Amino acid sequence: MGHVNGLKCRECGEQYPIEPLHVCELCFGPLEASYDYETIAEKASRDSIEAGPRNMWRYADLLPLDGEPTDGMDTGYTPLLRARNLAKRLGVQELYIKNDSVCAPTLSFKDRVVSVALSKAKEFGFETVACASTGNLANSVAAHAARAGLQAFIFIPADLEIGKVLGTSIYNPRVVGIKGSYDEVNRLCSEIAGLYKWAFANINIRPFYAEGSKTFGFEIIEQLGWCSPDHIVVPCAGGSLINKVRKALDEFHRLNLIEKPRTKIHAAQAEGCGPIVTTIKEGGDFVKPVRANTLAKSLAIGNPADGIYAVETTRLTGGYGAHASDDEIVQAMQMLAGEEGVFTETAGGVTLAATIQLIESGLIQPNESVVVSITGNGLKTLEAVQDRLPEPNIILPRLNAFEELMKTL
Ligand SMILES: *Cc1c(COP(=O)(O)O)cnc(C)c1O
Ligand SMILES: [Zn+2]
Repeated sequence: MGHVNGLKCRECGEQYPIEPLHVCELCFGPLEASYDYETIAEKASRDSIEAGPRNMWRYADLLPLDGEPTDGMDTGYTPLLRARNLAKRLGVQELYIKNDSVCAPTLSFKDRVVSVALSKAKEFGFETVACASTGNLANSVAAHAARAGLQAFIFIPADLEIGKVLGTSIYNPRVVGIKGSYDEVNRLCSEIAGLYKWAFANINIRPFYAEGSKTFGFEIIEQLGWCSPDHIVVPCAGGSLINKVRKALDEFHRLNLIEKPRTKIHAAQAEGCGPIVTTIKEGGDFVKPVRANTLAKSLAIGNPADGIYAVETTRLTGGYGAHASDDEIVQAMQMLAGEEGVFTETAGGVTLAATIQLIESGLIQPNESVVVSITGNGLKTLEAVQDRLPEPNIILPRLNAFEELMKTL
């Protein structure tokens, strides 16, 4: 390990040392981890990766730690399912579900970013970790901090789903519910991060945290037998994951682990909060912030930090974007469960609904391979489906009552 050269500004290229920094002092651009790929190429091969641990740290050479990882030893390496029923229903031949609804320990892909963030926070010597969250990050930071014996401060919008709130509180962090939108939570946290010496996963250590998302892309490639698919559809909140999926493909190519990828990467957002997809559709060089109003709260970021880079990723790979309405989100959640036995949260509904639109509009052709990124678990957003599903058939504990019921079923 220790193959990170430092941090580099995405806008002006200025270099910075490995420190808890996230914005360029010269141009305010975001900083990104940069690696010594020549050294990595000497040791990383398909064989060496395949011989690694069955978790996200099998890609440790491409993650920004100086020492050994200390967090997330059960995180990642989630299933890539061949979705034959769904493929048939949607009229395509080769459809896959990358299923992070079962990512350990907190059932979303956020465990990947937090594993890197907390390992790095410990290297930096922080004793308290924190985050501004739309829900899944809150669950993940709270759980990982509990296990690591770190103090945690979790900032969330006060109106989150009960599953996301209780799924945070159970780990006993300090939880602060803010009466406002996620964007207001984030703004407040940026001010707090300037005053307190805490490791804010998605603020001051964001360049390290964000790299964890690459493992989602690495796994897709490895699980497809070291091939990149024709399409990957990725849900966007702050726009980080989609960029890191592209970085993952680029890095594997750079290390000669795969052929030059032709993968088109598409963005999925909700109609009620889709500023990235709006920019993809309308063109333009900046993402205009919106006021979020959607069922998909985990994606409800109106002013996405990496928004313009997410747009760029779709443009440079030949991808596009699609907006899902609340109705389409719930229908897609039901379709995924009914066809493939996978219960995803609202964000997964957004991604599948977007995939359906891309297939219907011909941007994804029937003979092309598609990976749908399922990033979170449906048990956390029960209210989305609560009023849409049939009630159980209630009967007395008697055989004749059951037989009466059978006549009606
Ligand atoms: C956070 C989140 C995303 C998107 O993440 P960004 O990197 O901020 O775009 C997608 N799906 C789920 C379930 C999430 O919690
Ligand atoms: Zn800069």
